[in-house]
Amino acid sequence: MTSFNPEEIQKRLSLPADLRLPVSVVDKLNRTPTLDQPLTRKNRRASLSEIGFGKLETYEKLDKLGEGTYATVFRGRSILTNKFVALKEIRLEQKEGAPCTAIREVSLLRNLRHANVVTLHDIIHTDRLLTLVFEYVDRDLKQYMDTCNNSMNMNNIRLFLFQLLRGLSYCHQRRVLHRDLKPQNLLITAKGELKLADFGLARAKSVPTKTYSNEVVT
Ligand code: ADP
Ligand code: MG
Repeated sequence: MTSFNPEEIQKRLSLPADLRLPVSVVDKLNRTPTLDQPLTRKNRRASLSEIGFGKLETYEKLDKLGEGTYATVFRGRSILTNKFVALKEIRLEQKEGAPCTAIREVSLLRNLRHANVVTLHDIIHTDRLLTLVFEYVDRDLKQYMDTCNNSMNMNNIRLFLFQLLRGLSYCHQRRVLHRDLKPQNLLITAKGELKLADFGLARAKSVPTKTYSNEVVT
């Protein structure tokens, strides 16, 4: 059986370069027959699960960052990268299963990759909880505005607006409408990058004549 080094494995599974695969995982993966075979969806999924994706144990839960109507967001740390992540926990009602907001958020965000859209790293499904693992961003625009007494520097307003429109334009090109733009759903990194977040009310734009519900925000 061919033996792969960590870099080769990461490339083969299209994993982010900053991921540090533990030695034990590299050994284990090299002993599984799936790594030697042509990479199918199923093989890839099996290998990702070996690495620790899709498992709660891979993430250490830290302090609470925010609470919305159907989700609670915690700061966490990934054991694989040692980096902060945001864990968005969605409670699953026994009878109803996953709320449609969660299904929308996952299905739309999975296909979006852009510097101005928050990155979804992982999805963990247990009996009572659906946890979405996002890149960690330092604060949202509401918190940012509170720290500058609501008088933002004109240059920063320009930079934020430009990034907001660039992120939206990317979503619209992919026929995704966000529909809930507000400061709490726009995340701001320490470097001043803006990222669209909370795609719970978003939807795919389909047949142009179809009417949409009007209780959404933007
Ligand atoms: P809800 O759908 O319940 O409104 P959000 O996705 O908007 O949930 O998250 C609620 C709050 O948690 C946000 O307003 C923000 O303050 C914080 N938050 C969400 N995602 C992140 C993230 N990736 N990094 C840091 N904080 C986040
Ligand atoms: Mg929100």
